[in-house]
Amino acid sequence: MTDLDFRLDYTSWGRVVRAPHHVLKPRFVDTVPRLTDSEGSFLPVGMRRSYGDSVINSCNHLIDMTGVDRFHSFDEETGILHCDAGVTLDAVLRFSVPRGWFLATTPGTRFVTLGGALANDVHGKNHHRAGTFGCSVRSFGLIRSDGPPQRVERGGPLFEATLGGLGLTGIITDVEIELVRVESAYLNIERIAYGNIREFFALAHESGDRFEHTVSWIDCANGGDALGRGIFQRANWCRDGRLIPHGTKSGAVMPFDMPVRLLNGTTVRLFNTFYNALQKRGPRVQETHYAPFFYPLDSIRDWNRMYGGAGLYQYQCVIPSINAEDAIEALIRRIARSGAGSFLAVLKTFGERQSGGCLSFPFEGATLALDFANRKAETLSLMAQLDQIVEDAGGRLYPAKDGRMSAGMFQQGYPDWMRLRELKDPTITSDFWQRVSYC
Ligand SMILES: Cc1cc2nc3c(=O)[nH]c(=O)nc-3n(C[C@H](O)[C@H](O)[C@H](O)COP(=O)(O)OP(=O)(O)OC[C@H]3O[C@@H](n4cnc5c(N)ncnc54)[C@H](O)[C@@H]3O)c2cc1C
Repeated sequence: MTDLDFRLDYTSWGRVVRAPHHVLKPRFVDTVPRLTDSEGSFLPVGMRRSYGDSVINSCNHLIDMTGVDRFHSFDEETGILHCDAGVTLDAVLRFSVPRGWFLATTPGTRFVTLGGALANDVHGKNHHRAGTFGCSVRSFGLIRSDGPPQRVERGGPLFEATLGGLGLTGIITDVEIELVRVESAYLNIERIAYGNIREFFALAHESGDRFEHTVSWIDCANGGDALGRGIFQRANWCRDGRLIPHGTKSGAVMPFDMPVRLLNGTTVRLFNTFYNALQKRGPRVQETHYAPFFYPLDSIRDWNRMYGGAGLYQYQCVIPSINAEDAIEALIRRIARSGAGSFLAVLKTFGERQSGGCLSFPFEGATLALDFANRKAETLSLMAQLDQIVEDAGGRLYPAKDGRMSAGMFQQGYPDWMRLRELKDPTITSDFWQRVSYC
């Protein structure tokens, strides 16, 4: 069974681009539409938690894979799980946590599908130890327009092109991943306030070997003496046998688009000052359930509406270690001066482990991620200035978060992009790909 719908204003998490689409929603792997059946191009999508136009295929077909969501098998001895591509991380954890297993790595929301996590080769707070999601993938099923459905095993060129391949190499039907053992659903989390970027890097360096998870909030709104201050968090799993999965109740809902005039330099600065003070209060070490630690924003449904009706851009870059300190400081200085920074900016270091994905975003260095309310030309101009700092430092941007980088910046940042182009399915495309593969 496949549902077919015509949607006028389909959009992504950032809500900047809206476009009409024919949406096909299969319920079973057997009913996934053939890519040769209709005129026009296709794009498989999951929960559309990507921020920009990598999930947009204007005026063409989207194949919404969230209905293809069956569990196939789980080996309690090895932790190998085999599921359809539309199964969400939320569903995996509900199933696996009571059995003492967790995802090897997870992004900052559990409302993403296995197919989407693979196609963006997502990363989490343990990247310095575990690498990306792709490091835990053993194989997957793939449907292309040029042959019968196939099983793709680790090691081959199609495996590498599909990891982080933005859905362009075919429709991922099912995924086999390795979970990791946990002895509790709780983590011991230590919070440490730091005063500047230099202190952040010292903490990251000192924590990498001793802590499985590290991440920090950084104040991107306040300059002067407060420039580069933040709260560093480092955590290890508890071992107390409390294997309680996250709850099923949905939390608060953001019921309307926040008026954009409330999102100005003053409110963002005030929020960051308040957040800094709040985080410094309370115990330095705390036992916390995995849900608020890994997924703080999942407790507010539709939180993206907080950035107003025109949507938001997320800006996420990675800078190689050698230039990270100077470039991150320059980025923060520029953002603080603009008064456009976001409520919650995240700074983290990546380790050296690679998944083999030819378009995987992370490399060894530091990554900064923050949101900007869409103020059109003003926001685009600020991001163009940030691009210059990132490019000069040898960095690149994360396609899953992007909706506007230039073809030149993409091609320079991802020199292996031609390998993906060779293995791309000719019937599949996205607005993102049309923009960045332009020669
Ligand atoms: C609050 C929040 C926090 C986040 N934190 C992080 C983070 O910490 N780290 C990180 O890496 N990312 C993070 N992200 C981004 C998010 O994890 C990724 O964009 C993820 O890939 C989205 O999965 P999805 O199921 O929504 O896929 P979609 O966004 O719908 O699609 C993502 C890509 O996968 C392709 N795709 C989806 N399903 C299939 C399929 N079955 N076959 C082939 N291709 C497919 C699509 O074409 C698209 O290119 C965050 C996003 C949010 C909203």
